[in-house]
Amino acid sequence: MITEIKQIPVEGVKYKHLGIEKKPLTPEYVPPPEELVSKEKRTVCIDPSRTCMPIGAMWATLGVNRAIPFVQGAQGCTTYVRYTFARVFREPALIANASFHEDAAVFGGSKNLIHGLRNLVCRYQPSLISIVTTCSSEIIGDDIQGFLYEALDEMEAEMGPEIHDMVKFVIVNTPSFAGSHVEGYNRASQAFLKTLAKKSGQDSRDIYFIPGQMSTGDIRELKRMFSTMNLPFKMLFDISDTLDCPLTGMPKSVPYYPPGGTQVSDFVRAGDAEAIYSISPAAGSAGVKWLEKRYKVPGFINTMPIGVKNTDKLIKSISETTGRSISDEIRWERGILLDAMADCLHYTMGKRVAICGDPDFVSAATGFVCELGMIPTAILIGTKNDLAAETIKDVCDEYDHSPLILNDSDQFEWEYALKNDAPDVILGHSKCVNISKEIRTPLVRFGFPVYDRVGLQREPVVGYLGGERFLSRIINAILDHHYPDDRVHQ
Ligand code: SF4
Repeated sequence: MITEIKQIPVEGVKYKHLGIEKKPLTPEYVPPPEELVSKEKRTVCIDPSRTCMPIGAMWATLGVNRAIPFVQGAQGCTTYVRYTFARVFREPALIANASFHEDAAVFGGSKNLIHGLRNLVCRYQPSLISIVTTCSSEIIGDDIQGFLYEALDEMEAEMGPEIHDMVKFVIVNTPSFAGSHVEGYNRASQAFLKTLAKKSGQDSRDIYFIPGQMSTGDIRELKRMFSTMNLPFKMLFDISDTLDCPLTGMPKSVPYYPPGGTQVSDFVRAGDAEAIYSISPAAGSAGVKWLEKRYKVPGFINTMPIGVKNTDKLIKSISETTGRSISDEIRWERGILLDAMADCLHYTMGKRVAICGDPDFVSAATGFVCELGMIPTAILIGTKNDLAAETIKDVCDEYDHSPLILNDSDQFEWEYALKNDAPDVILGHSKCVNISKEIRTPLVRFGFPVYDRVGLQREPVVGYLGGERFLSRIINAILDHHYPDDRVHQ
């Protein structure tokens, strides 16, 4: 029998010779049984629009200077994350793993954590290690705090008491069965501030921002805007210069860390801040609330600044809180966005749009499309979030729209809605490609994850200039798809 199997030629097998034929099961679309459509009635989730919780904590850690996440779980809990960061940001991400095997599942992961932290400190000399738990370590019931004390005792005996000043440790509990990547980031925002922030009594003028899971281009755009207002600020979890680095030759020292990221000392001084903002309510508000409660730092939770109204709200709030005037540059940029919207209103007005993604992206984008005269039809909030659902409902009521809002559903249910009532355009992440192809509707990629196009991680959608670019992307997708060539230039 085995002799009948064809040998693999020395030069390998070409893709076209693999003989994989993609055939639909039926020539026509067969709708699923009615009772399977609603996620509420099912015991399984089909095609979720979210990923697991630890990735959020790892994301936050990678925005800190010389920081490494240490994942207390199996290697698979890290492999997917590194792969995702490499695809989305096109940069390598330094993430350590406790490498759980059968023995850890039976006896617990104390040995893995104690030895793992020691190796990491010796080899990589980080300034911070976040200990990120996973489903397995949480189910086993690992006493992470106890293990950490033990690891610190051992390291102190080996390396001296300086170890306590050299490296900071932050524990982030992220069992994936308790939430998605969005909640993982949110928990990290609280854990970092809770562990590190202090109040020295010396009042600072710094405004702190927690950006949430925005791309590197978005964070850069926000920093640029704040600089035009001469705002003294600290951007926490700032991935803009750690997950988007220039190629400038060989690293000058090993281990190599990118120069960017928030300094650990900025977290320590957070208790003295003048104010703290979360600009992605679902990913960062926990940190803001904790700092406000613990150190009475005024906290503000704003919708992500996508579109005119959302950006206005943020800029106005910062200006009122700090007493700083809104710069002429920002006023000019606002005018540019309004002008672009007016120029293109005939393309967007009345166009029907479906949206899918994380709560903060989806709720902010709904406001923007309504400003453009578009009609939201079906909106999927990938992670259950009542605030986002309420924000979407409020903005749609204001414009007299009543889209289908799926809060904590899956793409299966959302796609069913799209198949029955196709929109003119879809706004969503890369996992919306299949439905976009199936119903022949253009997809404007935004949010997380976008891995099947290059450069989008550097293109902001936030702020007035980001809004103008986002608008161009939406309109160009509509023009490419819906307008005959001879009508486009009118
Ligand atoms: S779902 Fe749980 S076990 Fe699976 S990768 Fe995420 S943390 Fe690890």
